[in-house]
Amino acid sequence: MILEGKVTFYKQLDHDDRKRFEDRIMRFMADVRITGVSTEVSDEDRLLVAASAVIPIFGFPQWQYRGLREVLLYPSAFNERYAVTGGGRNRLGQVGSGTMGGKMILSRPALLQGFSNETSKSHVGIHEFVHLLDKADGMVDGLPEALLERQYALPWMKLMQEKIKGIHAGKSDIDPYGGTEEAEFFPVVSEYFFKRPKLLKRKHPRLYAKLERIFRQDPAGFA
Ligand SMILES: [Zn+2]
Repeated sequence: MILEGKVTFYKQLDHDDRKRFEDRIMRFMADVRITGVSTEVSDEDRLLVAASAVIPIFGFPQWQYRGLREVLLYPSAFNERYAVTGGGRNRLGQVGSGTMGGKMILSRPALLQGFSNETSKSHVGIHEFVHLLDKADGMVDGLPEALLERQYALPWMKLMQEKIKGIHAGKSDIDPYGGTEEAEFFPVVSEYFFKRPKLLKRKHPRLYAKLERIFRQDPAGFA
């Protein structure tokens, strides 16, 4: 069973939740095409894309990624023109816009890396799907209004700014990429939340509590 072997999040669920997780995976794969571009895509790759999609929305039984039609898996990193050759190839994932609207691009090796390196705080699949959650209210601004009740928006913005300051001061263990802009902070700390929940809860208890409320999940509570 691929999910059990590769997806730590799934492994930690109880029997009923595993069943729910599998159902969400099937639904995602029925809705969204997963295509390899200059790279062979296996059933396992498809499952890992779907798992990346389902993990952040597992607390929302009805959630669907509206507007997403296809996920493209690339053989490597790519540049801002979605090319895998030429200069500036520093992207591992991206929510497409313009002619790439309705698509998400992920570097296949980076996707697999997110599931295989248990001690890292990085997960490009979760990162890009969290961008889609943020975008669901119409704006990619690090404020997921579709998930966050209005009265919690301001405290979230304040905490986000405080944590970004810490990153800029070199006093944070959060990936510095999360300090480049507010729209990147939310996906970067979401990777941390789902990959290393116990560590995040210990080092950033208030941030953990806010993410727990946003996602309606408590991954640090897994046995
Ligand atoms: Zn990003």
